[in-house]
Amino acid sequence: MNKTAPKPQPVIVFDHIAKIYGTGGSKTHAVKNATFEIEPASFTVIVGPSGSGKSTILNLMGLLDQPTKGEYWLDGLKTADISSDNQRAILRRDKLGFVFQQFNLLSRASALQNVMMPGIYSRKKNRQERATYLLKEVGLSHRLHHRPNQMSGGEQQRVAIARSLINSPRILLADEPTGNLDSKTGKAILELLQELNRNGQTVVVITHDDSLADLAHKVIRVKDGVTS
Ligand code: ADP
Ligand code: MG
Repeated sequence: MNKTAPKPQPVIVFDHIAKIYGTGGSKTHAVKNATFEIEPASFTVIVGPSGSGKSTILNLMGLLDQPTKGEYWLDGLKTADISSDNQRAILRRDKLGFVFQQFNLLSRASALQNVMMPGIYSRKKNRQERATYLLKEVGLSHRLHHRPNQMSGGEQQRVAIARSLINSPRILLADEPTGNLDSKTGKAILELLQELNRNGQTVVVITHDDSLADLAHKVIRVKDGVTS
């Protein structure tokens, strides 16, 4: 008897994706042919030099932009079939968490308020409990009421990671998450992302730093808009 479990469906499928910016003589082929799959609960590193198309790929994965050619499947959904910006926004909110190089925290809000911010569709009491829990998970239970300018860069990125998890996303997308941090702090942030992954979180890290490839289950290399 064959007891082999069926292969889990990838959470992301990029099938011959291209992205062209501009028209006529000023066209930029930012992504020419990106084909890859991301498995659930995996840790993927997308690596390539500056200008190779990494952020464009992140914007496409994050439903912040639409491909010129090719098919993008997100959690089994053919994204070309999503007709409205509103539906895309809902899908983005429910399926994806974002972490950026610049942290992108609201400067006037506390750590707790920052983490609660994307949770506006759940009840406030639950939101506050979950935000408090997530800040504890990232090692910041002593910083709940600090504002960004009262925290170190590494602490701010921990807040941003907690915020990205508030709606329990299928996938955490991080674009150069250690780019603004010294190497020791950056290493601790990567360890946190690995720990989240060990607990089942699908993580995608985008970077120009080849040494991060060592952390990954899968490495996707980008060169001149082509993945391999
Ligand atoms: P990376 O993140 O790897 O540095 P990007 O995806 O930001 O690369 O950029 C890939 C290429 O696409 C670059 O040549 C860049 O100048 C171009 N590009 C990116 N965004 C736009 C845009 N909105 N309009 C025109 N060209 C763009
Ligand atoms: Mg970039």
